[in-house]
Amino acid sequence: MLRSVILAASRSSRVERLVATAPFSRDVVRRFVAGAQTDDALRVTRELVDGGVTVTLDHLGEDTVTPEQATTVRDEYLTLLRRLAEAGLTPAAEVSVKLSALGQAFDEQLAYDNARAICAAADAARTTVTLDMEDHTTTDSTLDILAKLRKDHPSTGAVLQAYLRRTESDCRDLATAGSRVRLCKGAYKEPESVAYQSAREVDKSYVRCLNILMSGDGYPMLATHDPRLISIGEDRARWFDRAPDSFEFQMLYGIRPEEQDRLVGEGYTVRTYVPYGDDWYGYLMRRLAERPANLAFFARALASRK
Ligand SMILES: Cc1cc2nc3c(=O)[nH]c(=O)nc-3n(C[C@H](O)[C@H](O)[C@H](O)COP(=O)(O)OP(=O)(O)OC[C@H]3O[C@@H](n4cnc5c(N)ncnc54)[C@H](O)[C@@H]3O)c2cc1C
Repeated sequence: MLRSVILAASRSSRVERLVATAPFSRDVVRRFVAGAQTDDALRVTRELVDGGVTVTLDHLGEDTVTPEQATTVRDEYLTLLRRLAEAGLTPAAEVSVKLSALGQAFDEQLAYDNARAICAAADAARTTVTLDMEDHTTTDSTLDILAKLRKDHPSTGAVLQAYLRRTESDCRDLATAGSRVRLCKGAYKEPESVAYQSAREVDKSYVRCLNILMSGDGYPMLATHDPRLISIGEDRARWFDRAPDSFEFQMLYGIRPEEQDRLVGEGYTVRTYVPYGDDWYGYLMRRLAERPANLAFFARALASRK
């Protein structure tokens, strides 16, 4: 019910205008999204990097349904990478890319070609690209494209979602030398046939996957705000004798900033995922609709900085 209301609101331009102009929304948006323009992304990146945090930037875009839209997204990333390098913000800042924004839904080859151009630009800017993971129908295609990209760009990062039953096995496959793997719980509504449904099962899977990645040869990127999982990550770093530059913690922009600072203070590498772009309304509403529990997630972030 709540989901249908949020989805309806996400499609209504009247509600969008209302939300976009309300003083409260401006604060909410500013808290979770860097801004609409590349300049905003650079400004927030500079602030975070000066504070000792590394960054991954995500350009928010409308759903990509034509090759022209996919090219526009690609070009935005090429511009962003050039400007990050010019500003001296690489390699501290890298980029996160959704293959759906590059055309994956209607032309996998086009998505691959666009991603390859972004990886080449990241190499030139002396930084890296991570491929965000979307719903489970895209997992095989995304991992196939990752494998192809890694032939020429071995530092391309993967994302694995602990809620998927297949992920332990994917972790084993990807825990190899030099392999950058972000482990998150997973943000989409998935059926029981492919995904654990209870928070407890997802957390247990996260720990099993974390153990595989932290004991392996790759570069784990532990993306979570969950205090218990962060503390298990710290524990495994000691247990497996991992140097601070051999793995990292990741959190979303605006969520638990004080915890991000605490981890930096402890000497860990921390990366903040920073979305920017003018499609912030769709982004926030879709995240809420995908998982109405995200309403509590954002509300908690507004109430607490810890
Ligand atoms: C860097 C990054 C990249 C991501 N990339 C992807 C991706 O590519 N694909 C994908 O599907 N998902 C992605 N996600 C989203 C992820 O899958 C989860 O949906 C999201 O992170 C929420 O899960 P959680 O692990 O933070 O814990 P949750 O289950 O949301 O929260 C667990 C506990 O953490 C604490 N907590 C959580 N939020 C707050 C808060 N705001 N304030 C205070 N305490 C809080 C509370 O104690 C809470 O009980 C990404 C997340 C991050 C951080």
